Amino acid sequence: MRFDILTLFPDLFSSFLRSGVLGRAIGKGLVEVRLTDIRDHAGGPHRATDDRPYGGGDGMIMKPGPLSRALKSVERSEEGCKVVFLTPQGELYDQSVAWELSRLKQLILVCGRYEGVDERIRESYVDLEISIGDYVLSGGELAAMVIVDTVGRLVPGVLGGELSNRNDSFEDGLLEHPHYTRPRVFEGKEVPEVLLSGNHEKIRHWRRLQSLKRTFERRPDLLKKARLGEEDKALLAGLKEHPPHD
Ligand code: SAM
Repeated sequence: MRFDILTLFPDLFSSFLRSGVLGRAIGKGLVEVRLTDIRDHAGGPHRATDDRPYGGGDGMIMKPGPLSRALKSVERSEEGCKVVFLTPQGELYDQSVAWELSRLKQLILVCGRYEGVDERIRESYVDLEISIGDYVLSGGELAAMVIVDTVGRLVPGVLGGELSNRNDSFEDGLLEHPHYTRPRVFEGKEVPEVLLSGNHEKIRHWRRLQSLKRTFERRPDLLKKARLGEEDKALLAGLKEHPPHD
């Protein structure tokens, strides 16, 4: 999978692209990330990429010329490529959108700055607009990192085993169960007994109950869309009858 990121601040990405799961995926050639500096496509002695808004008002707007030249400079895969503009006005990003994007061969991510980009860029070049949340960032770079990280880890082989993300929060519409590691007692708190039992069926059942309990307590909205089996529905009915207090 290849990501092309169009930005005025390519340096922001250097340590992000070297670290952790994503750094390893890039090292193995499973994920490729190319950075395009929009300023390299600006003309004039000052290589300006922004200008004042028509109609007046505060702030500056990203000029369409440098952005369109930067977009045209990116080599495109014929096997599936989308241009994504990161904007607080876009479709709200979640795990299901991450899965959809992971099926493409290439994503071109356009990072805005200032008050945003000239509207004609959105109209002529953008396939999809994505917001990572209902708040305003100073630039699209953090949003692009969120997309590269979340989509990159879904690329086959990146997480090692096929199933390594199977239990992650949101994968089946629920929040994940709590985790414990050594020591067995930490600051007086014990690891739940069932996790030490060696009984895989009991552990699976406990984890599923915890996952349902967490979702019920913290994100009841997710339960409407979650994929629930008969056992889940019975556990959930029990939770609704006797709501947890801790
Ligand atoms: N004036 C714009 C508006 O109200 O919609 C916000 C501009 S913001 C200061 C600058 C850039 O940050 C945007 O063009 C966009 O690329 C990025 N950005 C800000 N918030 C974002 C969000 N929630 N999701 C994705 N990108 C965001």
